[in-house]
Amino acid sequence: MNVCIVGTGYVGLVSAACFAEMGNNVCCVDVNPEVVKTLTAGKVHIYEPGLEELVRRNHAEGRLVFTTSLEQGLERAQFVFITVGTPSRDDGSCDLSYVDQVAREIGRLMHRPLIVVDKSTVPVGTADRVRGLIREELAARGADIAFDVVSNPEFLKEGDAVNDFMKPDRVVVGTEDERSAEYLRQLYAPFARSRDKLIVMGTRSAEMTKYAANCMLATKISFINEIAGICEQVGADVREVRIGIGSDQRIGYHFIYPGVGYGGSCFPKDVKALIHTAREAGAVPQLLDAVEDVNARQKVSMARRVRDYFAPQGGVAGKTLALWGLAFKANTDDMREAAALSIIKDLTDHGMRVRAFDPVASENAAKLIGDNPLVEIVNSQYEACRGAQALLVVTEWNQFRNPDFERVKELLTAPVLFDGRNLYSPSFMGEQGFAYFCVGRAASL
Ligand code: NAD
Repeated sequence: MNVCIVGTGYVGLVSAACFAEMGNNVCCVDVNPEVVKTLTAGKVHIYEPGLEELVRRNHAEGRLVFTTSLEQGLERAQFVFITVGTPSRDDGSCDLSYVDQVAREIGRLMHRPLIVVDKSTVPVGTADRVRGLIREELAARGADIAFDVVSNPEFLKEGDAVNDFMKPDRVVVGTEDERSAEYLRQLYAPFARSRDKLIVMGTRSAEMTKYAANCMLATKISFINEIAGICEQVGADVREVRIGIGSDQRIGYHFIYPGVGYGGSCFPKDVKALIHTAREAGAVPQLLDAVEDVNARQKVSMARRVRDYFAPQGGVAGKTLALWGLAFKANTDDMREAAALSIIKDLTDHGMRVRAFDPVASENAAKLIGDNPLVEIVNSQYEACRGAQALLVVTEWNQFRNPDFERVKELLTAPVLFDGRNLYSPSFMGEQGFAYFCVGRAASL
């Protein structure tokens, strides 16, 4: 099949590479000429395990091409996927300007029947909006070409995106048109071989399903973070509590790890967008408001703990913190809404120096941190520790799980470790001679 993908970020490029891998001809369109140049040279501009090899191979075999021209992308396309960003506006609502732009351009350029598939995360009603914009553009040039707009939200997670796309838990297709559903079934057949994996529903339900899924996951994280906070106050250990509750199949073990709060390009903006949608519709999103509040508090809880620790020693001003992990989670270079940014801002606002290391996100982090003279990003986790008064672990990269603690101790001026991801055992850290602070468990001093 001939597929055009508009927007080659985490979702667009992964979808494109996986569709191409199954033998489809895929043309990727991106407005950013640098991105297109990099991809055409066989390189990938984002970090996603397994993606570069897939892109390179399918590009070399001619099934995957890249261009800045939507006209070229639409030349042979039967499907055009919209996979552009949908960031938050200041009021929390979803900014649809990139989606609108693509919809209008499709209307201006399409010359044959087309299924327009919205894969970006968009508020309920966006498929109708896209349909309206395309119709307007077709009418403006007096063209009458058949098209349908289908909602096909994406559920992949960064860090394991290729695997998620290749073996999805489900593929949601929102359409009122049985023929469009059948085309999508064919396109997705290699990924959803068991038929009941592809769930066809109304367009609005599909759009809502994506928000409901992300809000449910964000709720689980805020829930366990709230439980962790209570555990600390009452002397319980959230690790034990997690195992105790997770053993109930209705609850399960997944996604109830306490930590530094959720970040990334999806949960924060999608929770905000659903809150906004609910308010606009006259509903009261009480639970989602609380999910957000808990998360905002959690994101700076480790910074507060660092400040509390150093308060009796004259505060954090002039002291240096080694910080391991900048990305919002492991196995990605995505820095959007990363907790590290909130922590760094809080501590440097209080005069602390931060020496940070991340295996892949340093470049993206540097762009977002900007010109802060109190922050230095270094090339090794041990280099970050040299001469620092404490170490804070923010991201759960595997290479931080079993570090050389002797070396860390030698490099720090004092053995003090704040663990935002509960990577280590308090008793082990105690044996190693560290003052150890973690989430939802008593500190060992
Ligand atoms: P991204 O920012 O990584 O990529 C978006 C790309 O679109 C960029 O390369 C940008 O240059 C391009 N673009 C913008 N306007 C364009 C236009 N008019 N024409 C062509 N290209 C254009 O975004 P992403 O993280 O892949 O997210 C895309 C959508 O998918 C969002 O709605 C997001 O909420 C959703 N989503 C993301 C994830 C994720 O893990 N990142 C998972 C599921 C769903």
